[in-house]
Amino acid sequence: MTGTPKLCPKCHQPMSYALQPGGKPPRTWRCLECEMPDPLTSPELKALMNGLLKHASQ
Ligand SMILES: [Zn+2]
Repeated sequence: MTGTPKLCPKCHQPMSYALQPGGKPPRTWRCLECEMPDPLTSPELKALMNGLLKHASQ
């Protein structure tokens, strides 16, 4: 299983032949770039930031 990695159709970065989230098989071609949560749009991070700001202003 060697050769050129597939390229992501979205960001054109080489994709990783990786296990599913949680480490479960089967492996699939996945783009870690696109799967990474965007810090600017992640609701979890936004909530965390709001919590920190609220805490800091008190
Ligand atoms: Zn991608």
